[in-house]
Amino acid sequence: MEALKVAEDTGFIPPAPPRAAVSLDRLSVAFDTANGPIVALRDITLDIEDGTFLTILGPSGCGKSTLLRVVSDLVPMAGGNATVFGKSPEQARRGRDIAFVFQDAALLPWRTALENVKLPLEMGIRRGQEIHRSERSPEELLAMVGLKGRENALPHELSGGMRQRVAIARALVCKPKLLLMDEPFGALDEITRDRLNEEILRIWQETGTTILFVTHSIPEAVFLGQKVLMLAAHPGRVKELVDVGLPRDRKLKMRESAEFVRTAARLRELLEEC
Ligand code: ADP
Ligand code: MG
Repeated sequence: MEALKVAEDTGFIPPAPPRAAVSLDRLSVAFDTANGPIVALRDITLDIEDGTFLTILGPSGCGKSTLLRVVSDLVPMAGGNATVFGKSPEQARRGRDIAFVFQDAALLPWRTALENVKLPLEMGIRRGQEIHRSERSPEELLAMVGLKGRENALPHELSGGMRQRVAIARALVCKPKLLLMDEPFGALDEITRDRLNEEILRIWQETGTTILFVTHSIPEAVFLGQKVLMLAAHPGRVKELVDVGLPRDRKLKMRESAEFVRTAARLRELLEEC
């Protein structure tokens, strides 16, 4: 009301607050196991601004995958609340606002690279869902991830790195507002991983998509993230949210910069405390 009054009196329209892509409010997740219930995440409160590249680190079992899964409506909340662009995770999933890339590319082996990229569009059409197509065609998306000329290759004819590129192109075909990546490059050799790190940053800049990226590599978390969320285990909770003071435009060479080394050292300290 106060803001409206100011607008009436002066003609000044106050800027809208930055929109949260993901908003978590005392979010908890629990699982029933043979040994009784375990609390995978407890009281996670966090706002992730639209367009952010957030990387997530933490010891094994601290709930990194669970965090992505609850945001994408793959596991239910036990308490608190999560919203994705103001919607419930279920609404966001149904609206195809969210895409997921896992460590394993999970391509259909009998379909070519191009046919795998087209799959979410075909499924959306078959289910009569509203589809927000990327401005880029499936062929252009494959070219964007460096696979021009390999459109007709079957998954077994591609290297692990190439299969992950197909999975990324497939994730982008329905123009997700939120891209969730769970250790997507964890199984790749270091040189391929470096190259894909640079490419995912370029894709992020070109598409403006918000990215939540889980890794257990501190250098990868610092190189990619504008912010790094460090989770602690048992129960999974926020240890710290660390800003990375590197420019948006990043080159692998920056891993030798003072800011990079300082941030990585800070994260290593935090990880040891978890
Ligand atoms: P991270 O990805 O950080 O390694 P996870 O999110 O996979 O951790 O798991 C967090 C905790 O929740 C772990 O203790 C794990 O054993 C437990 N957990 C995860 N998924 C399930 C499930 N479907 N059923 C029971 N326990 C689970
Ligand atoms: Mg995990």
